[in-house]
Amino acid sequence: MIIPKPNRLTPPQLAEVTDIASAFGCKIQPIVGAVRSIYAIVGDERDDLMINRLEGLAYIDRIDRIQSPFKLMDRRSDLATGRLQLGGVTLGEELLVIAGQCTIDPKNPNYFLETAHAVKEAGAQALRGGVWKPRTNPYSFQGDSRSLEILMDAARRTGLPVVAEVMEQEHINLALDAGVHVLQIGARNALNYSLLRQVGRAIAGRDTAVLLKRGLHLGTLNEFISAAEYIVSFGNPNVILCPRGTAPALDGYRNHPDESITPLLKEKTWAPVVVDPSHSVGKAAYVPACALAAVAYGADGLCVEAHVQPSRGIGDDPKQAVTPDVLAALIRQARALRAIVKPPPVVAEVAS
Ligand code: PEP
Ligand code: MN
Repeated sequence: MIIPKPNRLTPPQLAEVTDIASAFGCKIQPIVGAVRSIYAIVGDERDDLMINRLEGLAYIDRIDRIQSPFKLMDRRSDLATGRLQLGGVTLGEELLVIAGQCTIDPKNPNYFLETAHAVKEAGAQALRGGVWKPRTNPYSFQGDSRSLEILMDAARRTGLPVVAEVMEQEHINLALDAGVHVLQIGARNALNYSLLRQVGRAIAGRDTAVLLKRGLHLGTLNEFISAAEYIVSFGNPNVILCPRGTAPALDGYRNHPDESITPLLKEKTWAPVVVDPSHSVGKAAYVPACALAAVAYGADGLCVEAHVQPSRGIGDDPKQAVTPDVLAALIRQARALRAIVKPPPVVAEVAS
């Protein structure tokens, strides 16, 4: 990782650095931040001669040689100084609550619009709404591009940033064209490296963020963080890690709730952690407890499925969406808890 003295390299400086790197079989990937940019050396950056030549340039401050499977996502990376902002919240400073329906029903757009206003009223700062849905059963409702208009209408009316899952390049294009603020990569696609690359490439140079769910099957933390590295390696560092429960499920829950990995992720990476209690437990009645547990573990935010009338919802909403009054109580309690629970100190050095 190249850390320049100025906030960013000029084009001739970048060309000089690129020339040196390419002589050693490496490429340079700029990581563009709001204030300053840093430059990843993609390839084997252990060659001392290359490092010496780069460090010899007057405008280079230093080269960080982080030996980690995820150099950019590593807590010791220079990206650790950045802070993502969403819905007026600076992640890491204030609890971010994303709430909304699992699935937008294109035949009943009013439910979603009512839900959008209700979650805002309840205290959520961002809105979620499924447009395209990954369904286990190929004959279940798969989502509908028309729901994108409903989502963006709700964004305009409430002023909330919106989150929607994308599963293929066409969804990415449509979502970005429409102005979706956060692209979700779902648990079934968390290890779909082509999709991770497509999303990373598509959001490079934009403000768009990505909510990356943890893979459905119990994977290692490094696997989860490395998936985020795919996205960030294209230059946009706005990635949020989202534990959402894993398989095999805990008897009685939809998945095995995994909010407890939050402090472990924070030992390894700088990325904000937003926990999804809804898919973790899969039943509305258990969602508040799981959400509070996530806050106790130091989560930076929550992503909660909510619906004005869950029984009229589609997708997961009838079973796991909470009502706006439950959401409002959950948010009040979560904020109160966060005020008394200090995020656990980071105890361990990064083990790679
Ligand atoms: C969802 O958010 O509705 C969803 C399908 O999430 P996951 O990928 O975590 O199952
Ligand atoms: Mn869902």
